[in-house]
Amino acid sequence: MTEILYYPDNEYQKKFDAEVQKVDEEASYIFLNKTLFYKEGGGQPADKGKISWKDKEAEVTDVQKEHGEIRHYISGDFPEEGQEVEGEIDWERRYKHMKMHTAQHIVSKIVLDEFEASTAGNQIHEDYSRIDFEPADFDDKDIELIEKKANQIIESDISLKKSERPRSELEEETEEERTNLDLIPDHIDPLRAVEIGDIDICPCGGTHVESTGELGEIKITDRRSKGADVERIEFVLEE
Ligand SMILES: [Zn+2]
Repeated sequence: MTEILYYPDNEYQKKFDAEVQKVDEEASYIFLNKTLFYKEGGGQPADKGKISWKDKEAEVTDVQKEHGEIRHYISGDFPEEGQEVEGEIDWERRYKHMKMHTAQHIVSKIVLDEFEASTAGNQIHEDYSRIDFEPADFDDKDIELIEKKANQIIESDISLKKSERPRSELEEETEEERTNLDLIPDHIDPLRAVEIGDIDICPCGGTHVESTGELGEIKITDRRSKGADVERIEFVLEE
């Protein structure tokens, strides 16, 4: 098992030391005893960055959880098993994902409260993100309202709390339509909870900012129908 160094509340560390546990040069991945690299999941892309040792260096191009292990796909030099390496994540890219992921939670919560629509899917990118809501059919006024409420939460600079919580507590405290706890395998307990003040609580493995004031300003740039009851919105974050 790889120790996940950014959990439950350590998203701002950029460098770490680790030991290489396994190398598969043909498949281009290595396996570390611990990592700060976020593996793709929950609509959030994998971190990129580099690892270095002695006078050698490799780019980390992708990070995936496969067959129960976290694989760092690399290009460049290949370390040997047992090698101590230093890892460094591409912080600029990661921080954009953190801001986008927190923004996604805010928008998902507002839409649930105002329109009783659940988040059916989401995809975060560095420069824009999208969320699919169901059942939903927004008009221009609805979009304006969502944007306004989201920006109020940002302006209020509300602190986030990230912690491991017993699954039973989350089952009690979260709304079914917000969390889809059913989709998280039963054996995962405790769960990592992300709370935005007392506005929102959601089990989430993603990386998030410390306070909503970091997000800038949300602008909803597009909305379109994605089937009978599903509406997709896209948003960006402006400085
Ligand atoms: Zn999340």
